[in-house]
Amino acid sequence: MASLPSTRPDLPAARAELRRIFGFDSFRGVQEQVLARVLAGESTLAVMPTGAGKSLTYQLPATMLEGTCVVISPLIALMHDQLRSARANGIAAATLTSVDDDWRETIDAFRSGQLDLLYVAPERASQPGFRELLDSARVALFAVDEAHCVSEWGHDFRPDYRQLRGLLDAFPQVPRLALTATADAHTRSDILAQLGIPDDGLVLAGFDRPNIRYTITHRDNPVTQLTDLMAKEPGPGIVYAPTRAKVEKLAEQLAQRTGRRVLPYHAGLAPEVRRDNQAAFVASEDMVIVATVAFGMGIDKPDVRFVAHAATPKSIEGYYQETGRAGRDGDPAQAVMLWGAGDFATARQRLSEVEEHRRKGEHARLDALAGLVETPGCRRAVLLRHFGEDPPESCGNCDNCCNPPAVTDATELARKLLSAAYRTGQSFGFGHLSKVLTGDADERVRQRGHDELSVFGIVDGEDAAMLRPLSRALQATGALVSNAHGGLELAGDARAILKGEQAVEIVLPPPRQRRTRRGGRDATPNPVGDPLFEALRGLRRDLAAEAGVPPYVIFHDAALRAMASQRPASLSKMSGIPGVGEKKLAAYGDAFLKAIQQN
Ligand code: ADP
Ligand code: ZN
Repeated sequence: MASLPSTRPDLPAARAELRRIFGFDSFRGVQEQVLARVLAGESTLAVMPTGAGKSLTYQLPATMLEGTCVVISPLIALMHDQLRSARANGIAAATLTSVDDDWRETIDAFRSGQLDLLYVAPERASQPGFRELLDSARVALFAVDEAHCVSEWGHDFRPDYRQLRGLLDAFPQVPRLALTATADAHTRSDILAQLGIPDDGLVLAGFDRPNIRYTITHRDNPVTQLTDLMAKEPGPGIVYAPTRAKVEKLAEQLAQRTGRRVLPYHAGLAPEVRRDNQAAFVASEDMVIVATVAFGMGIDKPDVRFVAHAATPKSIEGYYQETGRAGRDGDPAQAVMLWGAGDFATARQRLSEVEEHRRKGEHARLDALAGLVETPGCRRAVLLRHFGEDPPESCGNCDNCCNPPAVTDATELARKLLSAAYRTGQSFGFGHLSKVLTGDADERVRQRGHDELSVFGIVDGEDAAMLRPLSRALQATGALVSNAHGGLELAGDARAILKGEQAVEIVLPPPRQRRTRRGGRDATPNPVGDPLFEALRGLRRDLAAEAGVPPYVIFHDAALRAMASQRPASLSKMSGIPGVGEKKLAAYGDAFLKAIQQN
């Protein structure tokens, strides 16, 4: 190991660099554990949720180790985001991609040892020419981002990742750091094997995203519900809608209702429109993008304040990944799901088209999602248990913890509803069944003779009001499924419920939304309206526009908050603000000091 420096940097040195370069005072979660391994030259697989600070675990060593850290990353957009943020902190970084025109300079800088970080795509990394380039320079570390792409078990397999092993093995003395946010046990062991990382190199952080508040509620009027959410959340947000048409419509309605900038994003838009809308969103401090799930991969925007689902996501995994795009900066953020019985009905209908061997798994997937939607308990607990963790019963930061719903036994009523569906021939929707049960003999009911049935008029008073939430719950859990013509058919547990072998409980949302425990304030910790804070934001906007970067690249909100409350009056005081490292102090310190003085 003659090529290694005789003394490797250690954790105390890393802490000093953390302060100097990034302006942060302490490591988060498992960052320290990962860094200790990387600095010791040990290969590592770090599984850390979105927002946990994965990039710091190679950017920081890159500045400390002799030589360059080569980062393999699957998306050009992500690489350029990273490049921007790294450079803003004074880290010498470059990318080698098809859209870069500074190849010559990059290669020269790399060969002469001036680069801390070099980003490349996997397809380039596996070419022989690239190996020769690495031979002519000094490589300190290989970082493989989105490492689940190497595994066929992962949700995003990329054959190019399979070719990386040859490259890594050609440099056996260079440690490897694989990073991913999502990998189940199977995928994890596959990544370790595929990238040649020892089993004890696995560092696993929990899945919890404590700053995200989960709310799951029935969709009764999505435009109003989303307008209310936007009124509470002035920051950037993503709304996921299921189809292109719904994306377009919702974007238009929300823009009209809120007066805010709301743009659509889906695969049917022209590539340049898509690119522009995405760029506008990334740069914005208050824009909302309405999108299909195609949106989000490769977006690294840290200040997304809410993610809303206008219809149920495909699975708990999808939900976790999509909501995970909120609040990467650690500030409070919201995840709001609006669901309807129809979402489950459609999804369950589609099960019949799924190939036989996959059907059971798909069923389980929907049942798990229905469990999350229908739980009267802590949402976070359901999520974390789904990922194999053992969380506390209550988190204090989800709708059910903040505002516990009522749970009612509805077994008898469920039997009545299922009987009505059965006796009317399983070909009518909820509206008709409800009329039959409550004794509302309109023309259609009479024509069919449904006013003669034993179930006619057997539900009254308070129970009538529970029929709709009950029908939703039965559709969510699959005891009722709607057929192609909208008729409700018995399925799943319906028989057991009718026979009295299974109880049905339904969750009734609290009658009126009380203000939440956190003082009923909007979720943002920003002192919105404070003249100094607003002035600092204005300055940040100007500097960002001048530099052609999104405002968060200059400073995160947390840094502006600290400036507004501490009012540093000198550069040395300013250097104590979280997020103000050496480079940013030099670049922006004076301007922000001046703004503080003047306000
Ligand atoms: P990930 O890639 O894991 O989603 P990032 O690397 O993008 O996360 O980091 C998320 C955010 O957290 C970034 O804005 C980064 O500046 C911030 N961050 C990372 N490490 C720390 C730390 N130790 N203290 C404070 N903020 C941090
Ligand atoms: Zn909770």
